[in-house]
Amino acid sequence: MSSHIIGYPRIGPKRELKFALESFWDGKSNAEELQNVAANLRVSNWKQMADAGIKYIPSNTFSYYDQVLDTTAMLGAIPSRYGWSGDEIGFDVYFSMARGNASVPAMEMTKWFDTNYHYIVPELGPDIEFSYVSHKAVQEYKEAKALGIDTVPVLVGPISYLLLSKLAKGVDKSFALLSLIDKILPVYKEAIAELMAAGASWIQFDEPTLVMDLDSHKLNAFTHAYNELESSLCGLNVLIETYFADLPNEAYNTVTALKGVTAIGFDLVRGSKTLDLIKNGFPPEKFLFAGVVDGRNIWANDLHASLSTLKALEGVVGKDKLVVSTSCSLLHTAVDLVHETKLDKELKAWLAFAAQKLGEVNALANAISGRKDEAFFSNNAAAQASRKSSPRVTNEAVQKAAAGLEGSDHRRPANVGARLEAQQKKLNLPILPTTTIGSFPQTLGLRKVRREYKASKISEEEYVKAIKEEIKEVVKLQEELGIDVLVHGEPERNDMVEYFGEQLSGFAFTVNGWVQSYGSRCVKPPIIYGDVSRPKAMTVFWSTLAQSMTKCPMKGMLTGPVTILNWSFVRNDQPRYETCYQIALAIKDEVEDLEKCGINIIQIDEAALREGLPLRKSEQAFYLDWAVRSFRITNYAVQDTTQIHTHMCYSNFNDIIRSIIDMDADVITIENSRSDEKLLSVFREGVKYGAGIGPGVYDIHSPRIPSTEEIADRINKMLAVIESNVVWVNPDCGLKTRKYSEVKPALSNMVAAAKLARVKL
Ligand code: GLN
Ligand code: ZN
Repeated sequence: MSSHIIGYPRIGPKRELKFALESFWDGKSNAEELQNVAANLRVSNWKQMADAGIKYIPSNTFSYYDQVLDTTAMLGAIPSRYGWSGDEIGFDVYFSMARGNASVPAMEMTKWFDTNYHYIVPELGPDIEFSYVSHKAVQEYKEAKALGIDTVPVLVGPISYLLLSKLAKGVDKSFALLSLIDKILPVYKEAIAELMAAGASWIQFDEPTLVMDLDSHKLNAFTHAYNELESSLCGLNVLIETYFADLPNEAYNTVTALKGVTAIGFDLVRGSKTLDLIKNGFPPEKFLFAGVVDGRNIWANDLHASLSTLKALEGVVGKDKLVVSTSCSLLHTAVDLVHETKLDKELKAWLAFAAQKLGEVNALANAISGRKDEAFFSNNAAAQASRKSSPRVTNEAVQKAAAGLEGSDHRRPANVGARLEAQQKKLNLPILPTTTIGSFPQTLGLRKVRREYKASKISEEEYVKAIKEEIKEVVKLQEELGIDVLVHGEPERNDMVEYFGEQLSGFAFTVNGWVQSYGSRCVKPPIIYGDVSRPKAMTVFWSTLAQSMTKCPMKGMLTGPVTILNWSFVRNDQPRYETCYQIALAIKDEVEDLEKCGINIIQIDEAALREGLPLRKSEQAFYLDWAVRSFRITNYAVQDTTQIHTHMCYSNFNDIIRSIIDMDADVITIENSRSDEKLLSVFREGVKYGAGIGPGVYDIHSPRIPSTEEIADRINKMLAVIESNVVWVNPDCGLKTRKYSEVKPALSNMVAAAKLARVKL
């Protein structure tokens, strides 16, 4: 019985890699300095795993940017626009692919399954020539070996690599990416041979796409690929890792029958059904890597429960063939609890970050081998018990209120058409009303004020004064620009989730609980540990203050329950929807308080609604049902005359358009930077429904200032498919990251464009 880790965070316990990368990119340090920081991080990660007693320690899970990009480098699949010479890939080419350079934009980045990690999407086509270029996997293996640590090199599996790729520009849509398999396998074979020559006795292929809904054609590709690799893999122990969900039956049958494969890893945290599949049959000669320690959350493992799972598996595969593992790479959790200085002892006892999870994996492996660390287990049991019974976790009133939601649909009584009419009587807005999504530029001065207030360096009075000044400026600017529906600019908010979490009960915040999102960017999700309630109003003070400064309508600005949920570490002791309903009730109180205080338009952002969509189709309807219901709970009880907006930061919601409509908002503003036909059809659906719709008229992610003509052109394109009386004119998203020198002319052009379009109507 032994232990294994699928992958480890590479950013460092204090984001050392982030700072080293950014300093290198800024030209403040050289390549060697960056390489040194990276090497030290790798060494300390390997040592940490070795010291924790882990037997199968991964290598090649470090990356300067992303492991899929590293695979692209291994395969020499560099798009020609990066001017790669054909020899070694240096930082210049590598980071140009990741981030773009002065003359060439970056490759596309997209979400890694349903995590908040983003990978760089390979661009492939029929003409691409693969060759074995980056030997990083071998270098890392040797590097660890020199320390006396024999690691398991990890490669992104060949089929997952292709399935995660996209067609290069100009490639015929009918081209099948999977047809490239026989072109990339020779490179994999070379890498495998070199790893074996270096002494590797195990190799891990990450094939997480196996958990998706794959048709038989795609599943056959796995069989074909591993058949082809079989002879090269001879003499090696080969582990196929699957994670993020359980495997569909057919995928399970495929993976367990793969040739040349000696071990298979399963996610037993998210994959609740996999256990039954295994019990129904697992090839006797293969190893089973049981992912019982959650790689996607920060909770201490329930060791007792995991042990009984492992015992059941031992009964199926036998002690010798069972390996304790993590559910997925620990990349998706925080790094080390040791650096949390502000969490209290009780809460800390309930948590385990990556470093602590190593200890859990090892303790479970030892326990199965008859070397149970009684003290470790009893401490864990005590923490589990205290979490179950703590009054900090349970709030009877909240539980009751959430349970009381059952059985009702929570819809506003009047339909959207009638509501919009009632609202218009009150608001008297022009046709094609202009607005923004909420935040205005966050200047250095503003950040400093917030920081100093938080550190008690300035008084509350001084803080309020400074924020009030800022709001005044933002209101004045919007009035001068002639915007119709104003915002207060969100100067008091550091982050759209953290701001609310800090004021709600049931949330905790870490100091260093960072998780890599992409490249050097990390997020620090709040931890929801208890029943959520709202002790007092959260935004009413600022919103009413802002409203008092103008005669124009001021939008109240809230973050929706689904987004708060999806951007937090969520409790695992009750279903996600229960936590979401609790947050929804707290936001509902806020909505109603705003309404009472004279705020007639309230925007409830659901930037991350789509993010929570389960990977498997069979589970999506259930999620969408409770997510959309949570949104409706926040505002079903407002008056007809109160206008509810929602905002979403994406445009790829063709597949969830029914659900978006079912949210029953009065106005929906969405991202629209890729204004394609698909999106227009989405709008048409929306029009049938009758809600107001504001497809962003310019991209706020770029410093570029759009001209009046360009924006007017966009508006006219929209008016060609959408009735003018429901169209709103607004940017794509919040303006927080932009400079005033960009925002002022851009918004001015936006208002001018709306005016031009109005005249033509
Ligand atoms: N209201 C938020 C803002 O403007 C919305 C941000 C978002 O959608 N990500 O910043
Ligand atoms: Zn947005």
